[in-house]
Amino acid sequence: MTNIKCPQCGRDFVRRVPRAGRVEILLSAFYVYPFRCQLCGHRFRSFQRGVRYVWVQEDRREYDRIEINFPVTFSGENVSGEGMLLNLSMGGCRFTTTADLGTGMIVKLALQIPGSVPPVIVDAAVVIVRKTDPGNASVEFLRWQETERERLQHFIRLLIGRGADSKPLQA
Ligand SMILES: [Zn+2]
Repeated sequence: MTNIKCPQCGRDFVRRVPRAGRVEILLSAFYVYPFRCQLCGHRFRSFQRGVRYVWVQEDRREYDRIEINFPVTFSGENVSGEGMLLNLSMGGCRFTTTADLGTGMIVKLALQIPGSVPPVIVDAAVVIVRKTDPGNASVEFLRWQETERERLQHFIRLLIGRGADSKPLQA
């Protein structure tokens, strides 16, 4: 377990992310690895003396998801509906829904974050539905107003600050 802080926002909620390109593969031979801040999205490299990582398939995600339940509504070209959030990160979320969502659909989302009026709006998110995960859908956030992004960031920061004992780094 390391304690790496984001050089941009100073928080230690960072996740090691996949190496991109030859340079980063080379750097990893010298214990320099890429990370992404889970709050501000800043990507950076950090030296971790003597630390060797072994990649597994699930490690390819860039953000860790926080388990949380609150309502979400969505609308797309031929679909609209509502669901209940299962988890959330600055990169996307997963929710239960009875709506007929399909992989590749683009939807607009309204996240009804607790104690917050109005909801956080994500202008565009791409849907991913897995056969192995019936009744649930995931989305990756594609486009939103900076003000909305900041509101969600603030909410996630509160969740983390509440001592959810998050362990974003998995060696
Ligand atoms: Zn940061």
